[in-house]
Amino acid sequence: MKKIFSFAIVLITSIVVAQTNEVDYVVKNVNVVPMNSNLVLKNQDVKIKDGKIIEISKSKKSKNKTVKIIDGKGMYLMPSLSDAHVHFPETEKEMEKVMQLNIINGITKLRSMRGDWNHVKWREKYNAETSYYPKLYISAPPISRQYDLTIEQMNDFVKSAKDYNFDFIKILSIKSETLFKQLDSVCKSQNISLAGHFLDNPKGIHISDEAFFNSNYKSFEHLGGLIGEPEKFDSRIKYIQDKKMVVCPTLLWYDIGSGQYDTDYLINQDGMQFVKEETKKEWVEKTNLYREKTGKAALEVEIESEKKSMEERFSVVKKLNDLGIDLIISPDASSKYMISGFALFEEMKLYKKSGLSNYDILKSSTLNFAKLFNENYGTIEIGKNADFILLGENPLEKLETLKEIKGVFYNNFYLNESQLNEIRNNIEK
Ligand SMILES: [Zn+2]
Repeated sequence: MKKIFSFAIVLITSIVVAQTNEVDYVVKNVNVVPMNSNLVLKNQDVKIKDGKIIEISKSKKSKNKTVKIIDGKGMYLMPSLSDAHVHFPETEKEMEKVMQLNIINGITKLRSMRGDWNHVKWREKYNAETSYYPKLYISAPPISRQYDLTIEQMNDFVKSAKDYNFDFIKILSIKSETLFKQLDSVCKSQNISLAGHFLDNPKGIHISDEAFFNSNYKSFEHLGGLIGEPEKFDSRIKYIQDKKMVVCPTLLWYDIGSGQYDTDYLINQDGMQFVKEETKKEWVEKTNLYREKTGKAALEVEIESEKKSMEERFSVVKKLNDLGIDLIISPDASSKYMISGFALFEEMKLYKKSGLSNYDILKSSTLNFAKLFNENYGTIEIGKNADFILLGENPLEKLETLKEIKGVFYNNFYLNESQLNEIRNNIEK
């Protein structure tokens, strides 16, 4: 009997010892926004080992001193964010800045929608174990209708994309349906997915819905095919549902371009402090020139029509969301007055204007993105990657709390508020 008893003690001690060594970080006493449902788990300890969440439990005092403790008292922990439509800049220096602008905004995933063969090098650099910058999902140089590729050329292109391990192929437009079908069949045989613009253009090249929706497209951009073609709306929605396609509306790009904002507002948005004065000046000059050239009356007509078209976009976004279609999110910060990293929050505001709940908005930047790439993040659950941000308030009630990221845990790095501020202060104009 005595022997059994001491065996039990040894066993218990070894479990305790094992537990103390099996945790790298604990976020103490934090409110968890798990994003697998619309609720908050109050006062939790979140334990992390090897970059994975291994325990989430009611917070209690622990004597454990060997682990790194992140004090989460009064804070909210939610999955970190993604931007699903990014145009990478040309130079490495500018790219570094894009990465910094994103990480300080809690964005740890970027999907590139204007590819280049060079991006493979950047992915290698930034997706390394030693990098706390956002993870890149890259696309090969985009296909467009300018290219009249032979079958051989297309085969070579897709094969190269596959060899370089690009995450997908982006299409802007394509010369014909025949060419599209050929490309799609190569992509299917090489098992590489497609993404990009909706291809049928009522005023241009016709690509049948049947060909498009039965292709390797997993997601498409800008609400193409869903705006201004009411007679096709329902059947396209049905296709999207059946094929479980994902939609990336990029509302901000249209909103900024709609002409309804004065230049003072535009150049004073949050994030503009990271843009060179001369660049801002150039933007304003261009806008003023266009507005003068158009003339007051014509401009008003244009703005009214743009506003109307925005209303249509808002109502489509709401409809898609109500129907349970997965939205991903991006401002498409590729033109003037839009700053990578900062513009994502503006896009969220437009989702809100469309009538989405904070939960659905946040889902588009977390879980839905993870689902698209079949990744092990996007929710806060045991077994998921420790990939989260810390916030001062509950984002399910107050989205604005995303404007002040208190901490980022990603790729086994923890950046606290002062480290994030240091990055922010070092960003070049
Ligand atoms: Zn774009």
